[in-house]
Amino acid sequence: MSAQLQENIAKAEGYLARFKENTLGHYINGEWTLGQGETFDNTTPFDQSFLGKVAAATEADVNAACEAAEAAAAEWAATPGAERRKILHRLGDELEKRAEEIAMVESMDCGQAIRFMRQAAVRGAANFRFFADQAPEARNGLSLHQQEHTNYTVRNPIGPVAVITPWNTPFMLSTWKIAPALAAGCTVVHKPAELSPLTASILAECAEAAGLPKGVWNMVNGFGAVAGKTLTEHPAIKAVALVGDSATGKLIQAQTASTLKRLHLELGGKNPVIVFDDADFDRALDAVVFMIYSLNGQRCTSSSRLLVQSGIKDKFLAALKERVANIKVGHPLDPATEVGPLVHTGHYDKVTSYFEIAKQDGATVAVGGKSLRDEMGPGNFVTPTLFVEAKNSMRIAQEEIFGPVLTAIEFETEEEAVKLANETIYGLAGYIWTSNTGRAMRMADKVEAGMLWVNSENNRNLPSPFGGVKMSGIGRDGGDWSFDFYMETKNVCIAHDTHRVPVLGR
Ligand code: NAD
Repeated sequence: MSAQLQENIAKAEGYLARFKENTLGHYINGEWTLGQGETFDNTTPFDQSFLGKVAAATEADVNAACEAAEAAAAEWAATPGAERRKILHRLGDELEKRAEEIAMVESMDCGQAIRFMRQAAVRGAANFRFFADQAPEARNGLSLHQQEHTNYTVRNPIGPVAVITPWNTPFMLSTWKIAPALAAGCTVVHKPAELSPLTASILAECAEAAGLPKGVWNMVNGFGAVAGKTLTEHPAIKAVALVGDSATGKLIQAQTASTLKRLHLELGGKNPVIVFDDADFDRALDAVVFMIYSLNGQRCTSSSRLLVQSGIKDKFLAALKERVANIKVGHPLDPATEVGPLVHTGHYDKVTSYFEIAKQDGATVAVGGKSLRDEMGPGNFVTPTLFVEAKNSMRIAQEEIFGPVLTAIEFETEEEAVKLANETIYGLAGYIWTSNTGRAMRMADKVEAGMLWVNSENNRNLPSPFGGVKMSGIGRDGGDWSFDFYMETKNVCIAHDTHRVPVLGR
């Protein structure tokens, strides 16, 4: 064990001690409470050991959080944008102060390697700062002139909103949703994923330390079927922002129908990376490896389908196999680790089931395809895996595995690449590698996805829109798209007193 890993383990133990000793509750109306429900155990995917008890919110707990958000809504909406900006910058400062703690707690809670989690708090703070800076102008709209009337639009915060987040990169995703909601002037009830609840509580602590008024930020722990469902059905909640599975998106659409809520759904993906013969070989190889094996492959924008053109297929796959076999699987707190344990035993079972499914379907396991429990103990460790000789119709090419597992499929022509890329229920992201600009533009036009990167891995630009099409979701985040979601646009039409008002019954 390296000295650095030893040091990280000791530090993480310190940060995790309070969670092990005290049940983690809910943050409602500026107070921490255990609520009225039962508790459940939170464990680490590293070795299944106990990380602490977590309170599961009941309907009554969630109702209390929604009522708090409702009661705080008018005052927060009326708080000048410049003041909201100040508070949210302070929140960014708080996150940066606790960056190491957030990184280590997140690594142990969800198994992501520390090399990726080190940036979690910094990126979270950047999310708050970016949206904070737009708060003062967020209400501004357009001025639309007619001959005898002038129209202007203004935007107002939509009201209390629900933010429901998944376990894969829980901290970062929560900040990305909550920051624009608060900047827009909405109050929030956040429900983090039950499988990785810890850093959401640190976020709420930072919000309190930054001076956010009571009730503006509420957080309830618990399960989707009770806490999530109650939250989405509550009449005070005006919009729901979900990041999660496509199946959950469908449930939430049904649950919110009777209260007619606005929805933003960021869901699953089976994203293609398309490598043409004329691609920059080394850069494409680096990006292909990074975009499926980083973050344990538990990433919505991971490129889990490699479509590789026949002319470079053999050379590309040979180099890829060597790289995948070389990826370092290990302790999430080890700075050398590239792939850590999968978040939960249930998810481990799902990912490992595809090792058999691949063979049954007739694909070849070129690298990995094995559990590492015999070698590495009870944690949810699997080998980084590469399937080749696959067809796009196979389950390994159609279903979101959400692990460090890549399926490689050969294609001949540009038309075939488009067809294969689009033959999926999903449409979140796509990656195109070619040195032919015209082809890149044609592909970008035809591939059905909310986001396409040309000759790049996923590069996040906060002012750009983020989101998917088809079963990957509805709506966009980022820049003004976020404000449009969290605000209502109102049109005001003023007459110049020159037009003829229609007359009846005079
Ligand atoms: P999940 O859908 O199981 O859970 C997400 C959240 O929804 C959790 O907090 C859960 O408790 C809650 N939930 C579950 N049922 C609910 C219900 N009936 N009502 C209200 N809330 C409910 O997803 P997960 O397994 O935690 O995360 C993995 C999924 O998230 C993958 O499909 C992944 O692609 C997706 N994801 C998408 C994006 C994106 O931006 N498109 C980003 C990250 C993850």
